[in-house]
Amino acid sequence: MRLTIRSCLTCFVIVGSLTLAACGDGIDDAAILAETQSTEVAEPMEDQHHPAVEARSAEAITEDVHSQLLTIDTHVDIPDDFATEAVDPGGNDRFQVDLAKMEEGNLSAVFFIVYVGQTERTEANYAEAVRKARNKFDAIHRMTEALYPDRIGLATSADDILRIRGEGKLVALIGVENGFAFGSDLSTVEEYFSRGMRYAGFAHMGHSNFADSSLAREDLGDVPEEHGGLSDLGKGLLKELNRLGVMADVSHASKAATLDIARLSTAPVIASHSGARAVYDHFRNLTDEELMAIKKTGGVVQIVGFDTYLAAPPEEKVAAKKALAERYNYSRATRASLSPETIAAYRADVKALDQQWPRAEVNTLADHIDYAVKLIGIDHVGISSDFDGGGGLTGWMDASQTPNVTQELILRGYSVGDIKKIWGENLLRVMRDVEAKAG
Ligand SMILES: [Zn+2]
Repeated sequence: MRLTIRSCLTCFVIVGSLTLAACGDGIDDAAILAETQSTEVAEPMEDQHHPAVEARSAEAITEDVHSQLLTIDTHVDIPDDFATEAVDPGGNDRFQVDLAKMEEGNLSAVFFIVYVGQTERTEANYAEAVRKARNKFDAIHRMTEALYPDRIGLATSADDILRIRGEGKLVALIGVENGFAFGSDLSTVEEYFSRGMRYAGFAHMGHSNFADSSLAREDLGDVPEEHGGLSDLGKGLLKELNRLGVMADVSHASKAATLDIARLSTAPVIASHSGARAVYDHFRNLTDEELMAIKKTGGVVQIVGFDTYLAAPPEEKVAAKKALAERYNYSRATRASLSPETIAAYRADVKALDQQWPRAEVNTLADHIDYAVKLIGIDHVGISSDFDGGGGLTGWMDASQTPNVTQELILRGYSVGDIKKIWGENLLRVMRDVEAKAG
């Protein structure tokens, strides 16, 4: 069964749904209330352990809500051979996101990522980074134009998202991860924009020429702080993004760089895939100061379903993973030199660790969402998965399981209106604002 049903759920459903009704969201809530009333009448509180009623209620309520949502996931990675014979985006067994899984789980819109990993900053590596980025743009266009134009369309504006959705299709968008993907200057920015880039980040794991990263890479010769935030080139990139109407993304940037981006941007900014540092102290998560700075721009923080960013894994799991990495000689520095067979074997063994020590659950994601909503408000929080880039939680391991996230939000008492904002309307608003401020 797709949905994860907790024990003693009737109680939660009634509480959650009454909150939905009380928050008042017009016609949608009326339908939910009708559902709840029948539950309440049929199952008084003292008889709350009837398993059949519990399961039916949870599924029905979740489906009612989830089926009407525009769900936007702002971070899904793709492999270099995406949309070739090797990786069919229409449906496959290897990846967490494909069109069949998006359709099954009503994941309406996905930012597919043009990601280039940070390597040593040499002229040859800059040229290679641009080649790799262009290859990923090609792949996404192949999916939407040549392979599956009847199932998914490429959106380059907020209006496009709604139009394509209105045609009954899935929506693809494009984000660029790591300033390194632009090469050594700004000459590729307009080209990437013309090919559909609608958000861009400044760094990844390791400093770039554009910004300091939240992780300095000793293996690449990084000092703790290289630019002290954004470099002059990074400021130039931000100006270009603002001019073109592309959302600036702070995820992976250092705290100083994040605060620079928020302070200097003339349009709202986003964090495309990050968590809240106050909930779990991980370098990839945002401090309260950063969250507040993003809110001040009118932007949105897309809380990410990435296990190790959201909660501390068991020590035994960390030790076992470290031992595996040593056995395969697998690290960020060595990865590129390993054979595909070695990488596949390493990944299979890592997957086995997830069986032994399961990943964090969807409710941990909701803990970060709750915290961010309390701190910066319901209008500034969204969701991302980082699927096929390390993301995935117990209960949300691929796009087909997306209703489980909605169920958790219902259980936490969010109104339908709130859930709509978190799942897509906030991002849509930011995208529209950024477009309006372009030029
Ligand atoms: Zn990332």
